[in-house]
Parts: sequence; structure tokens; C-alpha cells
Amino acid sequence: MKILVLNSGSSSLKFQLFDMPSGKALVKGLAERIGEKTGKFKANDFVVEKALPSHKEALELLTEYLLNPDHNIIAYKDEIAAVGHRVVHGGNTFVQPTLINDEVKAKIKELFSLAPLHNPANLVGIETAEQIFTKARQVAIFDTAFHQSIPVVNHKYAIPEEFYQKDIRKYGFHGISHQYVSREANKRLNSENTKLITLHLGNGASATAVLNGKSFDTTMGFGPMNGLIMGTRSGDIDQSIIFYMMDKMGYTAAEVQNILNKKSGMMALAGSNDLRDIETAAANGDKKARLALDMYAGAIKKYIGNFTAQMNGLDALIFTAGIGENSNVVRRLATQSLEFLGIQVDEEKNKNPQAFNGDITGENSSVKVWVIPTNEEQEIAMQTFQLIQ
Ligand code: ADP
Repeated sequence: MKILVLNSGSSSLKFQLFDMPSGKALVKGLAERIGEKTGKFKANDFVVEKALPSHKEALELLTEYLLNPDHNIIAYKDEIAAVGHRVVHGGNTFVQPTLINDEVKAKIKELFSLAPLHNPANLVGIETAEQIFTKARQVAIFDTAFHQSIPVVNHKYAIPEEFYQKDIRKYGFHGISHQYVSREANKRLNSENTKLITLHLGNGASATAVLNGKSFDTTMGFGPMNGLIMGTRSGDIDQSIIFYMMDKMGYTAAEVQNILNKKSGMMALAGSNDLRDIETAAANGDKKARLALDMYAGAIKKYIGNFTAQMNGLDALIFTAGIGENSNVVRRLATQSLEFLGIQVDEEKNKNPQAFNGDITGENSSVKVWVIPTNEEQEIAMQTFQLIQ
């Protein structure tokens, strides 16, 4: 069975076609600059630059690519049994993979206010796929769903009840990734009764405490700015700063949001949101870059302590996503001097985790430390497959 996975942004569309249940990725690609003068479409090693007025043209190009007999992928469009869509916000409503119907689409629309950058684009992807893959079942996989297990003691904010009644609470994000790597870790531990911390460190970053296979707490909250320091997002700050910026410095709410979302984080501290540049600068003696790395790793460490205390222990610490998978510097700094918690990394293994199946655990460590590459698309394909089975 073939399952297509779509991750639609406002001007982009990432896709992968999977053969299920093997989980083999047959086609991987991306349409970029949708709606602009010139767009770019890439599927496996096929690349074309042309205007893509909307997501529809991008999906039509994909269909053409898939049906091209030279590529030998599918002979009929209807071979695609289902399309799995990544949807960022599922609110309190969606805790499971969900078969899409009119009611589900209406609910995703209602949630636009909670995820104004993402849910509208996700819905465009769904509606376009419905037009093109008319026989396929459309399934929504929500980035917030995994975190719906977070107990009230961790998801409620200490603000007046009326706001909680109006759905202001912790939702958490990157759930598909945290779920994927935590399941992989539990396979390695050969148990579901485990205490894990998963660190998804990409452009956006979040840490999750996974207790007995379920999300127990996470660093992102109502929106995706809280918690760890990120590429361009501040992570935790004192709320009073926002009021000071607005009341005393004359910034509008939209300007403050833009500053905290797009101009903060590593970009503000070190002038770049690409960790490779920052590592190079730090190695060349740049003090700002050095401080930025220390702050970045420090924020991770604070949550390792927080989550370990909340779970009364830790079995494994998992690094994933662009930075987690590739930066031995961040992994080293974030785990340094944590021997008292039973965490110790083998520095030789840390420099080349692939050679050790991602296991960078030090000799004297009681906690396993693993680098596990995330695969959100495969997780979406798998959850979609399980739902339609
Ligand atoms: P996204 O959230 O956009 O999916 P990724 O998971 O691709 O992000 O992560 C992007 C981050 O990973 C960038 O900060 C990039 O600098 C970092 N990164 C990628 N490769 C390396 C590397 N070899 N060393 C250090 N950082 C890396």
C-alpha cells in the first residue's frame, strides 16, 4: 500500500511517498516559493524551476512525476490509498490520528487563532489533496496530539480559571518527533515503563519528559516560543519584559511578537541562527558565539534537571533533529558535569555517534544517552497506515 505524507506550509509543500507497511520512502521532495514569481519543485533527483501559483500546481506536478512510467513508482493515481497530513494544532479536540471529514476541517479552521501561521496552510494542503487524490483517504496527524497526555498539574497555568475555560493551557509541539524517538528509545530499552527526556533541537526546539511512553511535560506551551533557546525564538523570558517593551518603549504587540519570534534566540545572541556558523565562530574565539552556545546548552540542562526531578529519575536522554543529531558541541555542553544525575557521555563516541548506532553513553553512566535521528514523515505514514487498516 502507498501512503503519501504532506507537510504544507504557506509557501511550501514537503512530501514523501511511502510503501507501507515496510515504511520504505519511495519519493522525497519539496515544492518551494509557491505563489511567487518562480517556484521550485524537487522530487528525488528531478528538479524543475517554474511558477507554482498555488499548492494545486505543486501537487499536480507531483502526480505527473509519480505517474511517469520512467520512474516506475505508480501506474494509477488511486494506488495511493491515503494521504497523511501534518497538522500543527489540534487543540484539546484531537488526541489521535483522525480521518478527515467536513467536521474535522471545520475544527481545524476553528483552531486558526491558536496556530495562525500553520493551521491555515495545513488546511490548504488538505483541501488540495482532496481535489487531486479523490479516492484516497485523508488523515490528519497533529503535532500537539502526543502532548494531550500531559496531566493537568503540568498543563494548567496559574492564571484565572476563566482563561483555562477558554482553552489557554500548555499544548506543546513537535509531538510527532518526540513520539517517534521516544518509541525508538523504548524499543532499545525493551520496555514501555521508562523515564525519558527527548530533546528535539532543530530551528525550533523543545524538550519533553516522556513517562511510560506518554508525554508528561514539555517545554513549549500555549504557543511555540516558550522553553529552550531556539534559532530565532527567545525561549523562556520574564513576562514583564513584554509589558515594558510595550508600555515604556512604545512597541506594538505585533512588533514584540516579531522580535521574540524572529529576531531573538541564537540570532540575537550570536548574529546567526545556523548553529554551524556559531560553532565555527566560537572555535575562532568569538566571545558572543561562545556565550550563545553556553546559554543554549544551559537552557537544555535546566530542563534536564527539571524533568528528571519530576519523573524521579531518568533512564535515557535522547538527542534529535538538525542540532541534536549533528552537533557534538551542543551534546557535550548540555550534558557536562551531570554525573551526579547519572549522566555521562563518552566524548569519543559523541564525535561519531553513527559508528555506535547512536549510543554515546559513557562507561560510568547509569542513564543511556542516545542520538536518534527523527523521522516525522515516517511516523505520519505509520500512524496513517494504522488508522486506515
Ligand atoms: P527544522 O526545524 O527547520 O526542521 P532542522 O532540524 O533541520 O530544522 O535543524 C536545523 C538546525 O540544525 C540549524 O541550526 C543547523 O545549523 C543545524 N545543523 C545542521 N547540520 C549541522 C551540523 N553538522 N552541525 C551543527 N549544526 C547543524
